[in-house]
Amino acid sequence: MIYLDHAATTPLPEAVADTMYDVLRHQFGNPSAQYPLGREAKELVEEARRTIAGALGCQPSALHFTSCGTESDNWAIRAAAWQGRHTGRHIITTAVEHSAVLEPCRQLEQEGYEVTYLKPDRTGHISAGQVAEALREDTVLVSVMLVNNETGCLFPVADIARLLKERGSRALLHCDAVQGFLKVPCAPAGWGVDLMSLSAHKIGGPKGIGALYVRPDLRNLRPLLAGGGQEEGLRSGTEATAQIAGFAKAVALRQEGLEEKLAHMARIKAYCRERLLSIPGVVPVGGGEAPHILAVSLVGYPSANVINDLGSQGICLSAGSACHRGKASRGYAALGLDKRTAAGVLRLSFGPETTEGDIDALYEALLRHKNTRFSML
Ligand code: PLP
Repeated sequence: MIYLDHAATTPLPEAVADTMYDVLRHQFGNPSAQYPLGREAKELVEEARRTIAGALGCQPSALHFTSCGTESDNWAIRAAAWQGRHTGRHIITTAVEHSAVLEPCRQLEQEGYEVTYLKPDRTGHISAGQVAEALREDTVLVSVMLVNNETGCLFPVADIARLLKERGSRALLHCDAVQGFLKVPCAPAGWGVDLMSLSAHKIGGPKGIGALYVRPDLRNLRPLLAGGGQEEGLRSGTEATAQIAGFAKAVALRQEGLEEKLAHMARIKAYCRERLLSIPGVVPVGGGEAPHILAVSLVGYPSANVINDLGSQGICLSAGSACHRGKASRGYAALGLDKRTAAGVLRLSFGPETTEGDIDALYEALLRHKNTRFSML
């Protein structure tokens, strides 16, 4: 199998699976329990928190485990809206955020909030200037992702943080860093970001575990899940110890030789871009900087057909966010692509394991598809 969909999810290294199995079998205590088995589980959770916080450059106590990136996004948005309820009801986000951000924003619209959706330019980028223009006295939240999951574009989160500070805005800044963590520089504490979402399964960790960074002096953040008061009262629910340990193990593994891994992914991306663009009718989509995501279009050839055809040959790729399951993606639509280009969008995403041989196989299969299938009119 040739796996070129690392932005959807990543393979789980054996060492991560072993760590999780060990916890499931031998360290199954409830971290809230007082006896040694419970205390051991609690220590395991805190050790994992220290590892992940170390990679993010923040205090361990600023990091709260959640069930996934989606939960982190929903929590951040709901909590920020609540926090600013006496200031106003205006939110700024981008038209190309993940559904985990857009859908809670739409829910808030139904509840009377006004949301400004910033549109990217034709290359897929958003500028801090657009945020400056949209910012109002009653803005309570700015939510901008670090790396777009469909184009790989890097958004200027540090500049936006600086802008909010300069303008003396009371708006909280949330960043969905699910695609950016351990792929591009990511420093919420240094940048002055208030809330940042992470997810383990994009970096070789298990599915079903994420985290939300909360700026340490942000007091009384409203929990999304209320209950037994775990995670310092901010996120109730018995800690998912095996997933948490797996998350930390994945982070530790990724950090080993990280610069070389990122340089490798960037080389693979450049190689892939060069090979695919040499096929007549293939054009680039957006100008993403992230080392692991490349979007192109086989203009006029419906991407669902390409994905099925290549899938049957053991090559996994996608047409954008996995959540759309074949439906046209809002993200690519926002780039203003014409109909035939939009229909043929393909997203390739790479990991440290991807080889040039994988790209050669993709190239051959795509060329075969183009030469043997009809395009749409
Ligand atoms: N945000 C972005 C940018 C993503 O790419 C994803 C997953 O595709 C998510 C959020 C949701 O993360 P999770 O799958 O952990 O819920």
